[in-house]
Amino acid sequence: VDPVKENYVRKVKNCIFSIAVPTPLKSRVRLVAVSKEVLEDILDLDLSVSETDDFIQLVSGEKIVSGSIPLAHRYGGHQFGIWAGQLGDGRAHLLGTYMNRQGENWELQLKGSGKTPYSRNGDGRAVLRSSVREFLCSEAMHSLRIPTSRVASLVVSDDEVWRDQFYNGNIVKERGAVVLRVAKSWFRIGSLEILAHYGELDLLRTLLDFIIREHFPSVEVAEPNRYVDFFSVVVSETAQLIALWMSVGFAHGVCNTDNFSLLSITIDYGPFGFMEAYNPDFVPNTSDDEGRYKIGNQANIGIFNLNKLLQALNPILDPRQRQLAAQILEGYPVLYYTRFRELFKAKLGLLGETKGDDDLIAFLLHLMEKTAADFTMTFRQLSEITQSQLQELNIPQQFWALNMISKHKLFPAWVSQYLLRLKSNVNDSDSERRKRMTTVNPRYVLRNWMAESAVRKAERNDFSETRETRPLPVPAFPSSCLVSLYQ
Ligand code: AMP
Ligand code: MG
Ligand code: MG
Repeated sequence: VDPVKENYVRKVKNCIFSIAVPTPLKSRVRLVAVSKEVLEDILDLDLSVSETDDFIQLVSGEKIVSGSIPLAHRYGGHQFGIWAGQLGDGRAHLLGTYMNRQGENWELQLKGSGKTPYSRNGDGRAVLRSSVREFLCSEAMHSLRIPTSRVASLVVSDDEVWRDQFYNGNIVKERGAVVLRVAKSWFRIGSLEILAHYGELDLLRTLLDFIIREHFPSVEVAEPNRYVDFFSVVVSETAQLIALWMSVGFAHGVCNTDNFSLLSITIDYGPFGFMEAYNPDFVPNTSDDEGRYKIGNQANIGIFNLNKLLQALNPILDPRQRQLAAQILEGYPVLYYTRFRELFKAKLGLLGETKGDDDLIAFLLHLMEKTAADFTMTFRQLSEITQSQLQELNIPQQFWALNMISKHKLFPAWVSQYLLRLKSNVNDSDSERRKRMTTVNPRYVLRNWMAESAVRKAERNDFSETRETRPLPVPAFPSSCLVSLYQ
C-alpha cells in the first residue's frame, strides 16, 4: 500500500493498526523541552543528541528512522458511558518498539503528528498548551512513583491550530506541537472493545495473546483460562492504580475506556487536575457537567470500565469462564479498599493493623472536607509536626493546612485518636514516624496554577518553567523532578 494515499479518514475494519505516515508541521519547529531522565534512562541517549537536527526531525515527525513503519492504532471505546464506535488513534503515530540496554521494550509514539485514518473530524494536531501539560504531568506522576506513560520531548511550531479551549464556543488560535511519548504499551480497553464490537474475534484472540505474551509474564500463554487470568491481573492493577491516584489527589478527568491502559498505567493526559482543598466532588474537566469523572467517582468508574473489558472478552470465553471472570470483577471493591487503606495508613505513619484504622482515615478526610484544608499539605504537615506539638495542639504558624483543619471542633478528638493509635506502632519512634511519612507525603504535586503558569510563559516563548529542573527536597521524588535541561 501507499501509506500517503491510504491516509484518508474512514471506517476501518479487521485490523489493529493502519500504516500511517506523520505529516510534518509546515513552519519551522523548535525543540523546547526534553526529559533528561527519559532520554538517558529509557532511550539510552546522551542528552547532547537532542541538540542535533536529526533528533529534532525525528521527534517532530519530519523524518522516519530506517526500520520504522509508522502506525496508527485502531481502537474504540465508551465515552462518558456511551459506546462511541471507532475513536482512534486520530493524532498519534506509533514509531516502533525500542529495546534499551536494560532489555526493556518501550513503544515510541508521536502525538500531534497529523491525520490518520482515525482522525474523524479532528485535524490530527495537538497544541502547545495541552502538550506542555502532558509533559509536566507525566514526568510529575513518574516522580510520585505512579505508573505512567512518559514524555521524551516537546517541539513547537508556528502552525496555526484552532481550538475551543474551554468548550464555550470561543475558538482561539493556538500553536501546533508534537510530543514524543513512550510507554511499555499503548493498548487500551478500547483496543479490545472495537474488535469484539465488530465480531473480529480471531483478531481479538491474536491481540490478546500478543499482549499476554509481551506484557503479562504471570499469565501462562498456553493456559486455556489465560484470558480470565489476564482479566484478573487487569482488575487488580486497575484497582491499584486508582488507589494510587487517590493517594496523591489526582483526578484524570476523562476516564473513558479508550483512555484506560490495559497495563494500568496513567495515559492520555487531558483536563486532569490535582485536588487542592479536599473535596470528593472535585471535577477537573470543565466540560464534565455531571461530574461523571469527579475524583470521588474514579474508583466506581474503574468497575464500569472493567465491566466493558469483560464484555469485550465474553465472546471468546466459555460460560464457565464468563462466570469466573464476573466473580473476579466482584472482588474489585475489596482489592481497591485494601490498597487504599494501605496507602492512607502509610500516609498517616500507621504500622500494623487495628480495627479503627478505616475510621481514623475517614474521620480525617471528613475534617479536611469540612474545613477545605489542603489535601497534599495536610498530610505533608502531619509528617513534619511532632507528636508532642500535636498533643498540646500547639500548631506552629507555618503548618497552615493543619491550622485550617484545627479550626474544626472535632479536631482535638481526631488528634487524641491518632496519638492513641500511634502508640500501638511496634518498635517505632516519633522521628522514625516522621521520616516514613515524609517519604510518602509529597510536598509538591503539579497544581493547576503551576501548570497554567508554565503554559502562559510557554505561550510567550518562555519555556523556563516547562524545563525547570528542581532538586526537590522530598525523598518521595527519587531524583530531580520536573524535567528537562535542554537550553
Ligand atoms: P480523547 O478524549 O482526548 O482521548 O480523544 C478521543 C479520541 O479522539 C482520541 O483517541 C483521538 O484519536 C481523537 N482526537 C482527539 N483530538 C483529535 C484531533 N485534534 N485530531 C484527530 N483526532 C483527535
Ligand atoms: Mg484518548
Ligand atoms: Mg486526549
